[in-house]
Amino acid sequence: MNDKKLAAASLAAQAMGWVDPVTRAVVPPIHMASTYVRDEDNAYRSGRIYARADNPTFDQAEATLAALEGGPKALIFSSGMSAATACFLALAPGDHVVAPKIMYWALRNWLATFATSWGLKVEFVDADRTDAIAAAVRPGATRLVWIETPANPTWCVTDIAAAADIAHRAGALLAVDSTVATPVLTRPIEHGADIVMHSATKYLNGHSDIIAGALVGARDDDWWARLRTLRAQLGTILGQTEAWLLMRGMRTLYPRVAWACRSAEALAERFAAHPMVSEVLYPGLPGFAGHAVASRQMAGGFGGMLSVRVKGGERAAIATAARVALWKRATSLGGVESLIEHRASIEGPGTPCPTDLLRLSVGVEDSGDLFDDLDQALRRAHNA
Ligand SMILES: *Cc1c(COP(=O)(O)O)cnc(C)c1O
Repeated sequence: MNDKKLAAASLAAQAMGWVDPVTRAVVPPIHMASTYVRDEDNAYRSGRIYARADNPTFDQAEATLAALEGGPKALIFSSGMSAATACFLALAPGDHVVAPKIMYWALRNWLATFATSWGLKVEFVDADRTDAIAAAVRPGATRLVWIETPANPTWCVTDIAAAADIAHRAGALLAVDSTVATPVLTRPIEHGADIVMHSATKYLNGHSDIIAGALVGARDDDWWARLRTLRAQLGTILGQTEAWLLMRGMRTLYPRVAWACRSAEALAERFAAHPMVSEVLYPGLPGFAGHAVASRQMAGGFGGMLSVRVKGGERAAIATAARVALWKRATSLGGVESLIEHRASIEGPGTPCPTDLLRLSVGVEDSGDLFDDLDQALRRAHNA
């Protein structure tokens, strides 16, 4: 190999080019051990003591994700939620944080309930408006600004560079839930983010067969050490087999995401002209409110997630979801199989999600088949 810097897609495909030094295997083993032998002189020269702190099976997934995001270090977690909540639990009661009104529902719920009763002062803002973030930060008191872009389930876009600037001027850190963008489309650290979070359950794994999360730090500093310690103390580590499956899934991240982006863009355009659809929400559509910012900070596509608002309201939306065959009615996203979800039903009372909205996670099936299936469902629901 020469010194040419490899593209991220090449690093991912070969999991950083790892080959087992003893067996020459191209795929790493799964290390099942929960504990490691101490040396005779009482030292732990392997650097490993107990598997609640780390496991060699994590190494490749963490090193690969760090390289893809352009940060020095990554940590994988037992879920996206445990990765996200670690960022807030690493703060202190009384600290002020800013979070979006439109964001992953379960995390917003946790912030409004547990985190608030634990002592964090949480302020929810319209994060697609930079001036709203600026108005909410309190210099010296705000410790963390949390954003998600594009954000569930309306895919509104936050300007990462502007949010980072606002956070840093106030003495706060910027964390970005980049689950939907993936490092294929956006590398938030390059735009000034201090921490990148992923539900690795979604695109990074890509096969709907594990629950996992990840953080990538922009610096290997005290804050990062605190997150690492917190993971070991809370035991929010990923199982060995799941860590292995995560790395196996990440090898195909680039072709999967590229395919999903192409299909999602085609579907967005076709459904925007559909007689039973009142609106398509997708950052790739030129008329979408966040399109200009998305074009600046997303490269190579606008993601595999879109939502359609169905004419006829909630009943028509649920009736449409009932009539698909190829799309699967399920929550979650980012897998190879396409999913459809009436999002307001799962978010429940108090959701800001419109009730006529169907959330679509575009997989790697043929996009013509996906269009035809949803088209017939929309028409049959309309005529029912
Ligand atoms: C799924 C998801 C999460 C939560 O991740 P889990 O792996 O389910 O714990 C957080 N943020 C976004 C954007 C998600 O889609």
